[in-house]
Amino acid sequence: MSNWQILSVQCDGILPTPLPKLAAATLLVFPANSVGEELAGRYSVQTGAVALGRITGLTVDGGDLIATRSSHGGHLSLELRVAPGLAVATSLESQFCTGSLSLGAPDPRLLLTFGPLPDQGGNLGSARIVIGGGRGLDEVCFAHLDNIARQLGGAVGASLPAVDLGLAPVSRQVGQSGKFVNPEIYFAVGMSGTPQHFAGVGARARIIALNSDREAPIFKFAEAGIAGDAATFLPLLTDALSALEGQSK
Ligand SMILES: Cc1cc2nc3c(=O)[nH]c(=O)nc-3n(C[C@H](O)[C@H](O)[C@H](O)COP(=O)(O)OP(=O)(O)OC[C@H]3O[C@@H](n4cnc5c(N)ncnc54)[C@H](O)[C@@H]3O)c2cc1C
Repeated sequence: MSNWQILSVQCDGILPTPLPKLAAATLLVFPANSVGEELAGRYSVQTGAVALGRITGLTVDGGDLIATRSSHGGHLSLELRVAPGLAVATSLESQFCTGSLSLGAPDPRLLLTFGPLPDQGGNLGSARIVIGGGRGLDEVCFAHLDNIARQLGGAVGASLPAVDLGLAPVSRQVGQSGKFVNPEIYFAVGMSGTPQHFAGVGARARIIALNSDREAPIFKFAEAGIAGDAATFLPLLTDALSALEGQSK
């Protein structure tokens, strides 16, 4: 990025004083998790740096930095133009960073390291069964999706809002601005059924939906559906699959 220094920040949750001196046009990219977001906010207040929020991409246009981020639950994609100066952002990915900066002296009692969320959800591209999680879920439900995918030999996908909420890494996002998947069965859990999401699901997929709202649009095109709370249903499904696994041993 010409003239811009884009640094991925590694930190242990403490901002040092004085803060390190940086080049005139610098963007610091903190990890997109609760600690990173808090530190990015504090750093912005302490230094007057422009705060860009959680970004998904970067380019440079005539010396200005153009950061992309989603807004309104993924309904809008914003391009934020930043003149040369000091700026901060958070991101799940740091592949657009050209270097890294370590902030804070490591505390041997509590050393946190940051990086993208671990990606353990199976191979999305070739999976015959994909279990997609949406905004209606939480971390516990996503952990159940991982288990269910493992038990069925499938892979876990996610909607854009679920990725925005930090429930799944961006490498799991399915849809218009995410990955294309072409499974035989797509189990859509806690997602409403938007065209932007299903643009990323092949036409051969037989869709099974789980949603707490019986009026959710997904029930209009799913082949089978369960109207219920994912937090109640997913543990039952995990247990049932574990029992089947036990019987077959
Ligand atoms: C240019 C552009 C590109 C986009 N690209 C993508 C993309 O690639 N992928 C993508 O996914 N989106 C994309 N979007 C966003 C898209 O428009 C939707 O906002 C998004 O798909 C909705 O995700 P969702 O279904 O998880 O959330 P929501 O629409 O909010 O649906 C959540 C659902 O969860 C249900 N629910 C709530 N609680 C529970 C519970 N306890 N148990 C069961 N169900 C529950 C609710 O009834 C609701 O139906 C894009 C948007 C734009 C403008």
